Amino acid sequence: MTESIHRKPTQLATLLIGILLTLLALVGHRFLPERRLTIDSSREGANFFPVPMGHGAPAEFQWIDQANFHYTCQFPQQAAYQGCGFAYMLSTAIASQGIDLSRFKTLNLTVRYTGEAQYLRIGIRNFDPRFSKIEDLNSPKFNFVNIPTRDLAQPIAISLGEFAVAEWWTAAYNLPREYSRADLSNATVLNIDLQGDLAGTQHDIRIDKVEFVGDWISPEYWYLGLLCLWMILGTAYGTSQWLMMRRAHRAQRRQIVELAHEKEKYQKLSTMDALTNVLNRHGIEQFVAALGITRVSASVIVIDLDHFKRINDERGHDVGDRVLHTLGEILSAGTRNTDAVGRWGGEEFVLVCPGTSLANAADYAEKLRHRIMETNFIPEDPLPIRASFGVATSREGQGFEDAFRQADQALYRAKSRGRNCVVVANEEQMHRVTGASKGTWALLSGRFKMHK
Ligand code: GH3
Ligand code: MG
Ligand code: MG
Repeated sequence: MTESIHRKPTQLATLLIGILLTLLALVGHRFLPERRLTIDSSREGANFFPVPMGHGAPAEFQWIDQANFHYTCQFPQQAAYQGCGFAYMLSTAIASQGIDLSRFKTLNLTVRYTGEAQYLRIGIRNFDPRFSKIEDLNSPKFNFVNIPTRDLAQPIAISLGEFAVAEWWTAAYNLPREYSRADLSNATVLNIDLQGDLAGTQHDIRIDKVEFVGDWISPEYWYLGLLCLWMILGTAYGTSQWLMMRRAHRAQRRQIVELAHEKEKYQKLSTMDALTNVLNRHGIEQFVAALGITRVSASVIVIDLDHFKRINDERGHDVGDRVLHTLGEILSAGTRNTDAVGRWGGEEFVLVCPGTSLANAADYAEKLRHRIMETNFIPEDPLPIRASFGVATSREGQGFEDAFRQADQALYRAKSRGRNCVVVANEEQMHRVTGASKGTWALLSGRFKMHK
């Protein structure tokens, strides 16, 4: 209980920290380190070369500082088609295997240019095995972007989404529409050259920076990752809570069962007499109370040992206890399941026999009297044990108090008439139930006595 009270603030704090961290992660995506690819002459295996173009009379290309991509182009007056620049191989060993530039977002470019060309063209060849052939140098898709040279005054950032496929290339290969989109996923060559009417002019270009920049993790994946993390943590938390609840529920159920067993045990103990293994007074009272509800008539036999005090005095209390224990066994053994045997207190016992007539109960009491006389209670040092009996019966639909009182009175009479005998409470009742006469009963049972 206290544990769960303490757990709640901790859980709340954890949840708040989780929300805070998630917000930080949402905002913090932009501060994650970026993926960068710099194209320069110092890259391992860097391979680049001039591509002066022109029909009939190519431009005069000249490196000024090759290591820093600094060169000049001079176009002859009569050249019909112009273009001057260089190609940088992005593929290394295998011509068909390039770099995946689609993972980048931006191309950062710093170029110093003097001349009158209109555009600087950035071209990226992309090898696609569906239509590119190694032997056909023109077959890798030609993606390009034209940058007005006036923009080159300062560093520029070009989104890779600005790249388009050159029309002349599309026309040359006549590919289906689904292939016509710009594609930078397998870039093999980077071309940088001048475009426009360049006849008879001189150009000076120095390329200070060519750098592709992108996220290591795209925002979409980042947000999806956060969502998945929440879902996983939520599921794990839910599962753990469920397991805990199930464990607690099972423990509770076990406890309930144990308590029910304990209750049953103590209920039994509270109605049993430990020395004699028969019901105690409380047990008898419960039995009688239950009978009262069903309004069944019953006979009551009250049994009291004769001169028991003497046995205690002469043989000791332990022997007295053994006698009481054996008497409990005799009474239990001869009793039907529907009857109740109990120790009313001291050396006085009670038998309640539902649905048994007074005559049958008297008969049974007589049998018990004989069994007690015949039993050797203390085998190693025999001693005679005798008992007196009082028998009565309750009228149907009436309480048992009267029957108990009458049986007790009958027992008192039995004692006063010399003990070791059965006395029936009410002769008239006896006649009505059995039709037997006092004489018949006396004859049948010897020491059997009627009590008025
Ligand atoms: P009576 O024939 O008139 O019944 O004489 P009694 O000696 O049997 O009757 P009394 O009521 O004078 O004595 C009953 C004795 O039973 C007294 C008491 O010491 C003994 N007693 C009661 N409970 C127990 C018990 O649990 N164990 C033993 N050993 N003796 C008990
Ligand atoms: Mg007695
Ligand atoms: Mg007594």
